[in-house]
Amino acid sequence: MNTALALYAANVGNSRGRRYQEAPPNYRTEYQRDRDRIVHSAAFRRLEYKTQVFVNHEGDMFRTRLTHSVEVAQIARSISRILNLNEDLVEAIALAHDLGHTPFGHAGQDALNRCMKAYGGFEHNLQSLRVVDELEERYAEFSGLNLTYESREGILKHCSPLRAKELGELGERFISKQQPSLEAQLTNVADEIAYNNHDMDDGMRSGLITLEQLCEMSLFAEQYEIVIGLYKNLTERRTIHEVVRRMINSQVTDLIETSLANIKSAAPATIDDIRLQPQPLIRFSEEMNAYNLELKRFLRKGLYQHYRVRRMSTKADRIIKSLFEIFLDDQHLLPPEYDSKVSQMEQVEGVAGKARVVADYIAGMTDRYAIGEFERLFNPSQLT
Ligand code: MG
Repeated sequence: MNTALALYAANVGNSRGRRYQEAPPNYRTEYQRDRDRIVHSAAFRRLEYKTQVFVNHEGDMFRTRLTHSVEVAQIARSISRILNLNEDLVEAIALAHDLGHTPFGHAGQDALNRCMKAYGGFEHNLQSLRVVDELEERYAEFSGLNLTYESREGILKHCSPLRAKELGELGERFISKQQPSLEAQLTNVADEIAYNNHDMDDGMRSGLITLEQLCEMSLFAEQYEIVIGLYKNLTERRTIHEVVRRMINSQVTDLIETSLANIKSAAPATIDDIRLQPQPLIRFSEEMNAYNLELKRFLRKGLYQHYRVRRMSTKADRIIKSLFEIFLDDQHLLPPEYDSKVSQMEQVEGVAGKARVVADYIAGMTDRYAIGEFERLFNPSQLT
């Protein structure tokens, strides 16, 4: 925890509170309590078996949504401490930011979104909020985790203006084009730093991208030259890791220095001054933005669209679509608790309500659970 929070950092004194009032915790801050509730949630445990890029059974060494979230928390907390922001809040947002992800990474999210097109769509970011606001059933007095406004604000990174209207106070900033807290801004960029760098590392490990290909990228090539100049006989594995860690360091350093300069010139006095800024104060320099764009393009072309990743994506698409259709067609195939939720939601919202419960069920699945459900429902030789 920071010793001296900046005046414009989120803190218990300027918090917009929780949806359901609760007595303050005795020995923790409100944001520590948020983080603790996230860590104890079922959705958090399931992150362990959800794909980041590689499906869980493809190998034990690849990042999962869980290890990704821990890396985001690490990067965000380190920077938070330098900027005197609220480290507890940053950690809570980082650990919760991917709770709404479907199985099978982006392929799963795209598939579920297509299935939900006629029923209001599916967006993992909104789903993360739905998990912490409604879907977790753990507490006697409320559904969801009843997190503070600031944690919820950080989880909801983007939102269409139409959706924003339904979200009340939390959606307002998307309509009035305001910014979230610096803690939310920071965690968002830390997410980007984490996945850009670990996807390169996983891509190399998987053999889908080569060292030669990585060297086509300026940011990688720059650090690579330094590393091979300093160390003559490193193995390829150690070389890559040494380069990637230096890349992360250069991105983090750039982010800290640029953001500190932005904060200095904007001179915010309160968290509301932060929210009224025309653009986020936590951002990279233009130069680093250009490097990052190149890195993202490289990963899209070389990794995310690699034929082996695409093969898995088409399988994911088929599994999600098949599960969605069969459950929407016959809700009694759902586990009993979801079956009764369908009946409740259908009364209020008709078929869209029914589809939403099916989407919640599918989105909550881990990769292996989704594959198991698919097998149980479509493989004639599977009897249970
Ligand atoms: Mg993420």
